[in-house]
Amino acid sequence: MADRDGAVTSLVAGGAGFVGSHLCEKLLARGDRVIAVDNAATGPLGNIEGLLRHPRFRLVVHDITQHTWVDDGLDHVLHLASPASPRDYLELPVETMMAGSRGTHNLLALARAKGARFLFASSSEVYGDPKENPQCEDYWGNVDPIGVRAVYDEAKRFSEALVMEYHRTHGLDTRIVRIFNTYGPRMRADDGRVLPNFCCQALLGEDVTIYGDGMHTRSFCYIDDVVDGVLLLLDSEETRPVNIGNPVEVTMNELAREVVEIAGSSSRIVHVPLPHHEPRVRRPDITRAREVLGWEPHIDRRDGIERTLESFREPLHI
Ligand code: NAD
Ligand code: UDP
Repeated sequence: MADRDGAVTSLVAGGAGFVGSHLCEKLLARGDRVIAVDNAATGPLGNIEGLLRHPRFRLVVHDITQHTWVDDGLDHVLHLASPASPRDYLELPVETMMAGSRGTHNLLALARAKGARFLFASSSEVYGDPKENPQCEDYWGNVDPIGVRAVYDEAKRFSEALVMEYHRTHGLDTRIVRIFNTYGPRMRADDGRVLPNFCCQALLGEDVTIYGDGMHTRSFCYIDDVVDGVLLLLDSEETRPVNIGNPVEVTMNELAREVVEIAGSSSRIVHVPLPHHEPRVRRPDITRAREVLGWEPHIDRRDGIERTLESFREPLHI
């Protein structure tokens, strides 16, 4: 439903956040009109300051857990609005559950009313503390429904179920992307995730804090690769969930050593108690993304860490 000058209109809920702001930029670069909807709960509006003067960009400051409406015709509704880092969702537990329940419902209703395609940003957290490694989309996961991380994991699982029900019951055109650990410029220095912590600690010469024994693994995908994958899925006809992440797995011990070395830092690496139970391993099986979208990540971790370290110099005044 492109408008008179051929532009597609995409509404990005969570558009001021880390992933959302990069996504808005890419959508604008390809010619879309973009409406970012964000209540600034965890994404500083400064992330999109540079976009506010763009003629095809508009920011609506709004909480998606409240009735959500815009008068514009919409081709796409992309739902990225949720606290995402463990520190954020543990500080905003009820808000996180509402963003992934009421918020998802409000945005699905909006997409249905507009006849728009709906994309939901789900997470590798739907797999919980996985008993299979790597995780493919057919794995149902291992989530503690009353654990502290459940506010995030169960909200994502509930949202996926609701999205699929809108697809089956109402014929809504839907996409579900299961995003794995993503990093890069515009992560908040204080969001508590491992790469902002390690990068800032290394740049400041502070102790680099490994939680627990450091044998936990994650697989980190650079933001530009993730955004490319999300857009390929949006443009595809794939209505099943698709993992988007980097299949290269690393222990937190290895990651800490890498960041310290790349930063040329004199920081010590120390071990502190694990704050709470968390997934011990995580690695995406990206066979589906490769086969259906022709997508795989291109930016290697060393290059990505260099770019991320660089991005923290200004906020840290280094
Ligand atoms: P982020 O916190 O930087 O961005 C989320 C944005 O949503 C913020 O700008 C926040 O203000 C906004 N928001 C939160 N609640 C809202 C509400 N009720 N109404 C309107 N806006 C609201 O997080 P991110 O890392 O950019 O993550 C974006 C999405 O991708 C999230 O849904 C997250 O679950 C998903 N995801 C991210 C990762 C990752 O590694 N970054 C991994 C898996 C999934
Ligand atoms: N972690 C760490 N030190 C930190 C922050 C995190 O060792 O300062 C570990 C954490 O225990 C987990 C991994 O890094 O094993 C990834 O944590 P993050 O909060 O970035 O994301 P998660 O994948 O757990 O949601």
